[in-house]
Amino acid sequence: MNCPECGAKNAGCQARFDEFLALEFTDAAFGAVHHLTVAAFMLQHSSRLTREGWLHERRLLKEFLIENKPPALLRAENRDAVDSGKRTFKIKSVEGRPVLSKTSWRTTIMDVQPGNADAYCQSITGWAKAVLEESNAITL
Ligand SMILES: [Zn+2]
Repeated sequence: MNCPECGAKNAGCQARFDEFLALEFTDAAFGAVHHLTVAAFMLQHSSRLTREGWLHERRLLKEFLIENKPPALLRAENRDAVDSGKRTFKIKSVEGRPVLSKTSWRTTIMDVQPGNADAYCQSITGWAKAVLEESNAITL
């Protein structure tokens, strides 16, 4: 069975994601792309997000990849927005219903090539760019 959300073969993406997070938390060289891994995975698995949360993740991914904003800065901005009550929406959904009707993506987490840290970071970045490109074509 393929993943009902991203279309990856054998639906192994959650296990892959957990494996990647473990790697990123253990080794800082892999952790350099942690922000991309999370945003790209969430965009492709929208049942974990609210509609506003999905749009937020897409904006974040654009800020990382196109505007080259450092993750630490965005984390600080996000914290301020939450603390000051400026962000009024919830990012995570508890309903488990996908925000997107899209069920197939050209590139999924199963296409990422692990390997050494350099290769890994490059592969994650390539996947994240493909996700952003396809996400940009989606209107919610
Ligand atoms: Zn999937």
